[in-house]
Amino acid sequence: MVTGTTGQTDLHAFANEVDQFLSRTLPRPEVAVGSRDDESDVIEVHGLERRPEPDAAAAVVAAAAWQALRFDADLGWITGPRRYGGRELPPEFERLYVERESAYDVPDVTPLNVGIKMLSAAILGHGGEHLRQTVLPALHRGDLIGCQLFSEPDAGSDLSAVRSSATLHEGTWELVGEKVWTSKAQFSDLGLCIARTAVAQDPHVGLTMFLVDMHAPGVEIRPLRQMNGHASFNHVLLDGVRVPDAHRLGDVGEGWAVVRTTLMSERAGVGKGAKDPAGHALDRMLELVPRLGLGGDSLVRQELADLYSRVRIAEFASQRSQVAPGPAGSINKLFRSRNLQRASTLAGKMLGPRVVASGGVDAMWGDLILCAPGVRLGGGTDEIQLNVLAERVLGLPRDPPIIDGK
Ligand SMILES: Cc1cc2nc3c(=O)[nH]c(=O)nc-3n(C[C@H](O)[C@H](O)[C@H](O)COP(=O)(O)OP(=O)(O)OC[C@H]3O[C@@H](n4cnc5c(N)ncnc54)[C@H](O)[C@@H]3O)c2cc1C
Repeated sequence: MVTGTTGQTDLHAFANEVDQFLSRTLPRPEVAVGSRDDESDVIEVHGLERRPEPDAAAAVVAAAAWQALRFDADLGWITGPRRYGGRELPPEFERLYVERESAYDVPDVTPLNVGIKMLSAAILGHGGEHLRQTVLPALHRGDLIGCQLFSEPDAGSDLSAVRSSATLHEGTWELVGEKVWTSKAQFSDLGLCIARTAVAQDPHVGLTMFLVDMHAPGVEIRPLRQMNGHASFNHVLLDGVRVPDAHRLGDVGEGWAVVRTTLMSERAGVGKGAKDPAGHALDRMLELVPRLGLGGDSLVRQELADLYSRVRIAEFASQRSQVAPGPAGSINKLFRSRNLQRASTLAGKMLGPRVVASGGVDAMWGDLILCAPGVRLGGGTDEIQLNVLAERVLGLPRDPPIIDGK
């Protein structure tokens, strides 16, 4: 470990350590501007798979292998507690790592995000000591992959409407129900699952959170195909799945507190990263301008400049709010998902029919146009983020519940 004169790791020494690790470990040199392989360069869209299925499985393996290298170099969980495999450094060290790593061509670790960000936050905040000691290092090393079993056919924005149930039989819970839109369930080892354990007048009471073994008998995973043709979602059926009580997170009936911890971490996670994904899209759109002869098109110029300013604002806002996940994470999520939608709409206008007719690299834009709306839904829709901000930041009265569809 690199330490400064105070005995603590200092940022400068850490930067050297990171640079050495990256230059020593990565098989490929830094990506030089203009040297990209256009066919393989896709714009990263949170949570949505754009690769053919065999490639998606290979991407998970590559992500886990890269994460293991990072973890073994003590760079896998920079802000996490030491006793659970973290480095226990302040958030600016993580920001520095992300920034340095972004200059290299590294495997995309998105497939591990649900485990590393959401399951980890839930276990750290609400799990027993044994779970923390065993599961947290494994998630952060990429040895275990996690998914989030929250949404159901009749419970999305209003998660308190979940109908999956859990009943206790001699120290073991039995789960029955169905979950939907579960990203990466097909690759997962563990699922964070909210289920009803009691009926109460307030639907937020009587829910309990569990960590489900996705390979256990009674778990059935069926792929769901999204509109870009790939299947990153799943329908997960739970038919008498047995879960030991030690894999319960939080108190019985108090699962809503765990849901809140997890969702706050998810929303903050969408807004993290050195660069707004719409910024990657913008870089590629600037390459399109000369190719399509649009440099003199005043509307395109204005919209590109507008997008640039929105991307920069999103990046500044996310840098400022990375100190701790909280309701303001909703701002990051709103900024980034709206920017991506704006970028994809503008790319569609610039390319016109080429988006569907040309194939090759132009098809990437069609894919982005089909993926971007989903980013405004996953992790809580735009309207739900606005409700969070209205209630928890602005102190406005709670959103009135929708009763009988009225
Ligand atoms: C990319 C992606 C990844 C996802 N991954 C997962 C996953 O891994 N695990 C998981 O459990 N789920 C996942 N989901 C599901 C996601 O959490 C839900 O789609 C989301 O919570 C919305 O729920 P819903 O689809 O049932 O829409 P609904 O809740 O039915 O909402 C329909 C519309 O009504 C609006 N609305 C609802 N309530 C209100 C309100 N109170 N005020 C104002 N407007 C309202 C919504 O904004 C939306 O426009 C994912 C979704 C996407 C798109």
